[in-house]
Amino acid sequence: MRFETKAIHAGLELGNPSKAIIPPISPSTIFEIDAEGRHEDDLHYTRLGNPNRLQFEHLISTLEGGSAAAAFSSGIAAAKAILMAIEPGDHIIIPEDVYAGNRKMVNKIMVRWGLESSFIDMTSVETIEEHIRPNTRLIWIETPSNPLMRITDIRAVAELAKSRNLLTVADNTWPTPVNQLPLELGVDLVLHSTSKYFGGHSDILGGAVIAKKEDDFFERVRLNQKMGGAVPSPQDCWMLSRSTRTLAYRMRGHNEHAAKVAEFLTNHPKIADVYYPGLASHRGHEIAQKQMSGFGGMISFIVDGDQKESIEIVGRSKLIKRATSLGGVESTWEHRQSSEGEGSVTPENLIRISVGLEHPDDIIEDLEQALQ
Ligand SMILES: *Cc1c(COP(=O)(O)O)cnc(C)c1O
Repeated sequence: MRFETKAIHAGLELGNPSKAIIPPISPSTIFEIDAEGRHEDDLHYTRLGNPNRLQFEHLISTLEGGSAAAAFSSGIAAAKAILMAIEPGDHIIIPEDVYAGNRKMVNKIMVRWGLESSFIDMTSVETIEEHIRPNTRLIWIETPSNPLMRITDIRAVAELAKSRNLLTVADNTWPTPVNQLPLELGVDLVLHSTSKYFGGHSDILGGAVIAKKEDDFFERVRLNQKMGGAVPSPQDCWMLSRSTRTLAYRMRGHNEHAAKVAEFLTNHPKIADVYYPGLASHRGHEIAQKQMSGFGGMISFIVDGDQKESIEIVGRSKLIKRATSLGGVESTWEHRQSSEGEGSVTPENLIRISVGLEHPDDIIEDLEQALQ
């Protein structure tokens, strides 16, 4: 079956013995035990497992080409579950412009529990190799990176990691499996903030870890889900499954609209640089073309001006909402440095836009007037 078909059908049947095409929401926290006693694989308690969570986990795992998935109550909870699954004293290599929340989580929480980390430029495999230490355990990939849209060669990093016996995780939140399939390129684990394109309507918070193999390491991630406790509600899982059924078509729209907006921005005199991997002028375009089938809905651009001017431009939008986050049907944008706050490595004149599914001409008209 093809992606679109799987997105619509996978997982519906799990825990749905009724004839309802759309599975019901199962809000019950408890499930009755058989009269003859307890079976380990049965559902008992919703923190440990719930029909709607099983349905969504099956769906997202199918779409990423994994063998198992664990859903969380946020993307950052999913990220933390991976880091809690390695040992205190282990070292990780992670992009210097990794999603700012994950940087904060590593530095403010995990480092206190013994994690060692190197935040580096991951556009060169040689640089990554130079940073491998005897206690390195995991390489964290986020491509395109956030918000500099740097491209990491996933296959090359996965090969390096295999040769050195290291784990790899790819944060695939921005591309989604519609545009990029890291597990096919050799990565061990995929991470998602499902709050973004999977939810797609800016009304759900969630995360997921998808594993190529259901091995001992994934069992540790699973343990962190069940006993760490950051699980999504049955209602949220049901909503996520519903949104995911249209993911392929929404992503096509995001890809198409962002390409148009990127071209418009490239030709605008007020703009000094545009970071979008779909542009032939982008530094990582060649690698992006190898590993992405579409370039996504996210664009960062550099204003020919200072911080104040950049904030003022964002302030003038009428249609595009001034908000952080991304992946909704509505376009949003922000002065990224302000939202990242302390420790931000983002240029002071960078604006990040999440191009939505409004008519692209309306988005461009709003940009036109805001940039005047
Ligand atoms: C938003 C985001 C996260 C964190 O997810 P939350 O659901 O906000 O916790 C992680 N990685 C990337 C790339 C993101 O955009």
